[in-house]
Amino acid sequence: MTPMQRWLTLLASALWCAAGCGTAAPEDVASATSDFSVMDTQGRIIVYADTSALCSAAREAAMTRTEAIAALLNRYDPASELSAVNRAAGGPPVPVSRTTARAIADAKRLCRLSGGAFNPLVGSLVGLWKRCEAEQRLPTEEEIGSALRVLNIDDVEVAGLEGAAEGRATCRLARTGMQLDLGGMAKGWAAQEAMAKIRRCRGVRAALVNLGGDGVCWSEGDRGADGAETAAAGGSWRRPWRFGVQDPRSAGRRVLLPLEVAGAAAVVTSGNYYRYWEIGGRRYSHILDPRTGQPVDSAVVSATVIHPDGGTADALATACMVLGVRDAMALLERLPGAEGLILEASEGGLRPHPTAGFARYGRVKNLDSGPVSEGEVLP
Ligand code: ADP
Ligand code: MG
Repeated sequence: MTPMQRWLTLLASALWCAAGCGTAAPEDVASATSDFSVMDTQGRIIVYADTSALCSAAREAAMTRTEAIAALLNRYDPASELSAVNRAAGGPPVPVSRTTARAIADAKRLCRLSGGAFNPLVGSLVGLWKRCEAEQRLPTEEEIGSALRVLNIDDVEVAGLEGAAEGRATCRLARTGMQLDLGGMAKGWAAQEAMAKIRRCRGVRAALVNLGGDGVCWSEGDRGADGAETAAAGGSWRRPWRFGVQDPRSAGRRVLLPLEVAGAAAVVTSGNYYRYWEIGGRRYSHILDPRTGQPVDSAVVSATVIHPDGGTADALATACMVLGVRDAMALLERLPGAEGLILEASEGGLRPHPTAGFARYGRVKNLDSGPVSEGEVLP
């Protein structure tokens, strides 16, 4: 059987590698790949299953789930449940689906986990900076001050999630002006939900859900975090998924570091180079420091986080951008299951800061390993 290499490049903006580049699919496993637009970005789902019909069924289930979540959590769509919650800020609880309630409850938990560096209430600040960009001016101190007053995560109330699995939940923002923005975790969270759907389908052997560079992967035979069993078990679909950390200086066309992930994990990169506001010819990061209300302006160029859960990986990557190298590394080292790589701009170029366990996924020694073409086998 021809060994299959699955190639995946995780870019902050887009995925540009394909599955099974240059190799034939093995006879005993079918695969299906779908590219689609979702959450303002490019999504890709790859499924390996016993038959093509099972592949398609799993892929459809994942796409449907992703699109449903995108519709619920889009704060720029007035028809979304998140918008309904935001509109009612300062008023009574709003009935929402359990999915929306779970996403908001997770965002609360992740805010606490990150010591407030990831804060889904930055919606008011994001709105302010967007408005200022349109008006080509900087926000005033008063404006920043009032946005900062509505960032208390305890004022987000989620109810009705406990107990019976049926029925509606509610969400309430206790103070006027509070605005939830789940952009810092939504892609990873949705990718994880989509993966859960895939894993419930029959005959599925391995899968990847990548939403704009936030990837969740899984292969059957996962026996533990070290992946040893996975590799030994054979079967082409059990090979590790391959990701590439993008070189932030390359405008998305160069892989700095290849990563291999066996079993189940999420790999998420947050960078200050991809999305920004431009005011008076200066670029301001779209990631805001909830302590100051200012766009982050640290030497951290990108943060890649690997974690068993997609929403957690995404929120942590955003938090790392806010925290700066030292505190970000301390956070990742403190959290069980989290590994990461922070890239810091320094005079000599990019300085990598990997967590102690990061070597399991990639050899940071090889940083600057050069351009990687599709299908090329890396050392
Ligand atoms: P990307 O969406 O580019 O992958 P992130 O996951 O880092 O990047 O999310 C950035 C988005 O998160 C911003 O566009 C904004 O909507 C929101 N955001 C900005 N700052 C924060 C923060 N400190 N905590 C939570 N969300 C944030
Ligand atoms: Mg994020």
